[in-house]
Formats: sequence, C-alpha cells, structure tokens
Amino acid sequence: MYAYGLVPSRRFGRSLGVSPIPEKTCSYSCVYCQLGRTKNLTPVRQSFFDQNAIFSDIEKVARANKGNIDYITFVGDGEPTLSIDLGSLIRRCRQSFSYRTAVITNGSLFWQKEVREDLMDADVVNITMATSDAQTFHRMHRPHPRIDFEQVQQGILDFAAVFRGEIWVEIMLVDTVNTDDERMNALKARIDAVHPARRYVMVPTRPPAEPWVHIPSPEIIMKALSLFGGTDITQPEEGAFGLDGFSSASEAIIEICHRHPLRLSQARSIEGRFSQNTLDDLLSSGKLRVVEYQDHKYVVPSEFVFGIGVAWNDLRKGMARVNVR
Ligand code: SF4
Repeated sequence: MYAYGLVPSRRFGRSLGVSPIPEKTCSYSCVYCQLGRTKNLTPVRQSFFDQNAIFSDIEKVARANKGNIDYITFVGDGEPTLSIDLGSLIRRCRQSFSYRTAVITNGSLFWQKEVREDLMDADVVNITMATSDAQTFHRMHRPHPRIDFEQVQQGILDFAAVFRGEIWVEIMLVDTVNTDDERMNALKARIDAVHPARRYVMVPTRPPAEPWVHIPSPEIIMKALSLFGGTDITQPEEGAFGLDGFSSASEAIIEICHRHPLRLSQARSIEGRFSQNTLDDLLSSGKLRVVEYQDHKYVVPSEFVFGIGVAWNDLRKGMARVNVR
C-alpha cells in the first residue's frame, strides 16, 4: 500500500500519506527516528516502484475520502526525495485533485538540481533543520558517508531562493545533543537565512531509534520556542486514523505501525472499529511489541525496537529511560 490514511496531523490536518520508497530507506539514520534504525542507508535516487501503481493507490484513497483531505503528503517510510518519481507524482496530484500537496523531507539531497526541480510544484516543503555544525549533524542524523553537512545547508538555501510555495522548517530537539545555547543560537541563524513561512519545534514524542535519546526539559523547550519563534508541536498527536482500504484490524495495525508507531490505546481503538480482537495475537506472536516511552505505551513492530544489541546493553546498564517488553 503506497497511499494511506487519512492520518491526523498537527501540521497537515487530515493528511493522505504517500510513501514512494521502501520501508526505512533513508539518507540518514537519525537517533530520534520513530521508525527505528535505517535499514537501507543510501543517497542514491531511484525508481523503487511502478509509478502508475503508486498513483492509482493515491486515487483510491482520495476517492474514499473525497472532500475531507487537507493535504496529500509525501512522507515515505524514510526520505521521499530518494524516489525519482516524486516530481512526476506531485504534478499528477496537482492535475487530478484540488488538494494541497506537501513533502516532508530531511533536505539532504537538495544540493542536486533535479531534487530541487522535483519539489517545485509542491505547495509546502517541510524541511528538517536541527543542527548548526557538522559534528552535531553527524551525531544526530548519522548520514550516509557521502552526505556533506555544508553541501546540505547550501542545497537548502539554493532551494529556498527559488521555491514559490511555502517552506516550513521542523526543529527537532534532542536533550544534550542540540539544546545548548551556543548550538541553538547558531541554528537560529541558519534557519533565519532560509526565511521559512513556519517553524515547528518538535521533540521525540514517540519511541526513538536509540534508547539514550531524551526529551529536553520544559525550560529548554520554552527557550527554544521563544528563540526560534516556532509553533509548539511537542505533544503527542490525537485523532483517529483512516482505515479505508484495510480488510482487517491486524492489517491496519501492522501497516500503520510501520509508518507511525501507535499508542496502545489507539491500536485497541482500531481493533474496536473492526470488532476484531487481534492485537494480543500480534503481540504474542512477536510481530509487535509494547514499548513504554514518556508515560505512554506504544505498539511498535519488533524490528523497530532498537534494531540490534547495543540498546539492550544500554538497557542492562540502566542507561535508558525506555522500557521494552
Ligand atoms: S527521522 Fe526521517 S530523516 Fe531521520 S532517519 Fe527517520 S526517516 Fe530518515
């Protein structure tokens, strides 16, 4: 399923999500990523799937939710600009629907002219800008070795200089990684140079890829909101997920979990909407696990739970605030 939703989004309202790339394919492997560690770390663009199949999936979800969509959002289970079909898909959406289009991107490939051109027809391009220097960039995003920090920054500036739509910037704060005064002030200068229409301050509200990732204190969040002049989206999202196209509760829960870790209560509510009790089976079979994070219980695919043994060692040493069951 390449298109899904509708997904409740604080930024994009009722969002029809589109993923034109395979699961967890990204140019970064961010320590805070809610999808776990990147499986396919690559800076190489390609056509991953049949473009017509992706578009017909978009049409199907759009038909089922006619009139209720705020945005068609290209987000991917990783970095959507890795798909060379992205520009064409955005143009086809614009020609076929009256909905606004958005792309959520890490901006890492904007130094390539073709990537900038592919995004020109989007209404909104939402870019991650979380670090102001190469060292912090590498610690936070763990990019592919061929991705260069200054080249990424220049690519974003080049795009901002010509893009006619709105640029929104997403500022992810990870405690002690990018939250000291010096780094935040330097980041503000980089963001100001892009002149974004909106700035969103975020924290890792869902279980992160690495258990040592922490949400900053409320004082630091307040300081960041004041410094960046941003909108606060540091609280977990509310709202019901669209279930059109899913034939069973287990299919819906597994599919949504792979893109958007669900709170246990949200997964139970999906079960209820199908009048099926399958969540306990999914948990006992090991396909899904319950993770406690920031006083909430989440249901996540087992392979997202810190990927490999390092995290378990951290847990044993008592370094993590995340509990895994
Ligand atoms: S947070 Fe986004 S950019 Fe970072 S690894 Fe996850 S999908 Fe990639």
